[in-house]
Amino acid sequence: MRVFVASLATETNTFSPVFTDLASFKESFYAPPGEHPATPTLCSAPFIACREKIPALGWELIEGTAAWAEPGGLVNRSTYELLRDEILGQLSAALPVNAVILGLHGAMVADGYDDCEGDLLTRVRALVGPAATIAAEFDPHSHLTAKRVAQADILLAFKEFPHTDFVDRARDLVDLAVRHVQGEIKPTAAVFDCRMIEVLPTSLEPMRSFVDRLHQLELEPAVLSISVIHGFMAGDVPEMGTRLLVITDNDQARADSLAQSLGMELFSFRGKTRPPYISPELAIAEAQASSLQPVVIADVWDNPGGGVAGDSTLVLQKMLDMGVRDAAVGTIWDPMAVRFCVAAGEGAKIKLRFGGKAGDNAGAPMDAWVEIRKVVRDAVQSFGDSVVPLGDSVCIRLADTAIDVVLNSNRSQAFAPDLFSNLGIDPAAKPILLIKSTNHFYDAFAAISQHIIYCDAGGPYPSDPVTNSYRKMTRPIWPIVENPHGLTDELLEIR
Ligand SMILES: [Zn+2]
Repeated sequence: MRVFVASLATETNTFSPVFTDLASFKESFYAPPGEHPATPTLCSAPFIACREKIPALGWELIEGTAAWAEPGGLVNRSTYELLRDEILGQLSAALPVNAVILGLHGAMVADGYDDCEGDLLTRVRALVGPAATIAAEFDPHSHLTAKRVAQADILLAFKEFPHTDFVDRARDLVDLAVRHVQGEIKPTAAVFDCRMIEVLPTSLEPMRSFVDRLHQLELEPAVLSISVIHGFMAGDVPEMGTRLLVITDNDQARADSLAQSLGMELFSFRGKTRPPYISPELAIAEAQASSLQPVVIADVWDNPGGGVAGDSTLVLQKMLDMGVRDAAVGTIWDPMAVRFCVAAGEGAKIKLRFGGKAGDNAGAPMDAWVEIRKVVRDAVQSFGDSVVPLGDSVCIRLADTAIDVVLNSNRSQAFAPDLFSNLGIDPAAKPILLIKSTNHFYDAFAAISQHIIYCDAGGPYPSDPVTNSYRKMTRPIWPIVENPHGLTDELLEIR
């Protein structure tokens, strides 16, 4: 038996000015065959799960390329085709194979390709033929297109957001793929279109209990896998939206009914799942009044993990306006300013323009006298077991304050407090930590802070589906329309 594994992933915010090319992949993560590390990355965990399982069965594992780019704008067409064809070429050379296992993200959009993963899966199927097993793991912030479901035998997504379970779900994927190769199961899929788009953190109710229940339902022998595709509202593609995916063992009726009932239950959660997001004014005032320092202010809509630049100055400027004089800020993406600071050197005091350059909805560039406190080449932060590159980075201190700002040159959201300590800042000693992340920061920062505030500064992420100018949507979805399922008033009330 021969199994081929590969990974090609990014999350495309089609509204972002930060276009994605080969350099974006090489800066984030690019591992040709034989070079995938022993630790998993978010979308390449199937490599690790395959290494654990496949050789132990006496089967041969053939590893292809794994590539991931930090979420950003549209992927350059030739970059997508180059990476796709690299993997397809490796697969061709590995034929015949019994299974292809892919670590995808599921929200990649390239110039000319609204559904990159559907395109890749179609080409993989054409190479391996109808009998081979095709299995793929997705991030829930993806688009579940009909094309993907038609081409793959097993698709599943991480259940948790924050995505703490990406390795466990990769193990599920490989287990199911092995059982399919051995002829033990007949995966039968049903998809329900919830006709909505919403932010669905699973650390909070009602999603917490919902996900726990999915695990319970998967204990039924006929139910092989249940995934919630949350959808990704910053991707303007025809099939954008929330979907429920159920895979049973040869029981279409059970798959259909579960997908529909769970899908409509999810629809009933609309508008009730987001944590309270407050304005910068309220967030800063609350932080200033808090006795539980350090207080974390998460600037949720300047999260590079959602594809934006990560160079917003909106909240930092408001902090200065409101008299904050001691804080740490991480990070503001500004490779040009980093380069100036590296050239000036540690200890230099210079006049610097930083941040606010990538677009017109993330505040103005800041001009300030700053002291360069620390220069770190190829700086990193941690995210669970993963090491996340920040690129060359500097810590600058704004003159006449104790406000330390980390400027980085590889875009990344804030995952852990070591993004500060690695730049010489003691995060526990700062009254306020301003970070950029929607939710993935939570576990690591909750370990050092008892007061976390989610702040909505109004941009630059396209966080309101009602005002986002979608051009490709093929059907009505909530909240753009109130009643996309055409329910009666009475049912709409219940739902
Ligand atoms: Zn995600």
